[in-house]
Amino acid sequence: MTLSAHAVPLLSDNYAWLLRDEATGTTAFVDPADADACIAAIDAAGGRLDMILLTHHHGDHVAGTDAVRARYGCPVIGAAADARRLPRLDRTVVEGDTVALGESSLRVIDTPGHTVGHIAFFGGGNHVLICGDTLFSLGCGRLLEGTPADMYASLHKLAALPGDTLVCCGHEYTQSNVRFAVHADPGNAALQARAADVERLRRAGQPTIPSRLSDEMAENPFVRAPDVATLARLRAEKDGFR
Ligand code: ZN
Ligand code: FE
Repeated sequence: MTLSAHAVPLLSDNYAWLLRDEATGTTAFVDPADADACIAAIDAAGGRLDMILLTHHHGDHVAGTDAVRARYGCPVIGAAADARRLPRLDRTVVEGDTVALGESSLRVIDTPGHTVGHIAFFGGGNHVLICGDTLFSLGCGRLLEGTPADMYASLHKLAALPGDTLVCCGHEYTQSNVRFAVHADPGNAALQARAADVERLRRAGQPTIPSRLSDEMAENPFVRAPDVATLARLRAEKDGFR
């Protein structure tokens, strides 16, 4: 039940995700913000689309949803809690629901913080996590709607997943995040090594995503924050960090 996860770069620094259940070819597209770019990626991968999944209501994740649905005639799945401000949903989901993708399945995880109705999807025998703007490589989403306590709880739910989980997040923010992470945790040797990897990848024009959850546990200061107050302080500091 391998689920392949292919990052599709969109807009200035977004990643949408093309997910394919390898056993059956069943395909999902996550966060189709730019319809033309999404359709080009889907067609390049064989032109099959079985469903659209949405992580949260921001335009840089959902703006192309209706055009992509119209093109492939597939259902759109998103959070029941945010149905009123997401594109029209054909299926609403809540925490603990399962979305079948061929022989693979994806579990819905509530991850409020960046927005109040944000959800993540986790599944595949190879442990794929689609986490939108909640957990980033070496960072976390801005608290635009939720509280530090919301984000703390969301990150801890994700941190309980298997260490080999592939973290498929919604933006290429790693280079900015790594500078702040090194500033926040200057004595972390694993983080220093990761910073060098990130700089090398970006210089070569390569994505830094997906990352591995065990690396986030060792290096991401937001995941490592021991309590809500520390997370709140780090998030506020990062908001003004240049
Ligand atoms: Zn967002
Ligand atoms: Fe975003």
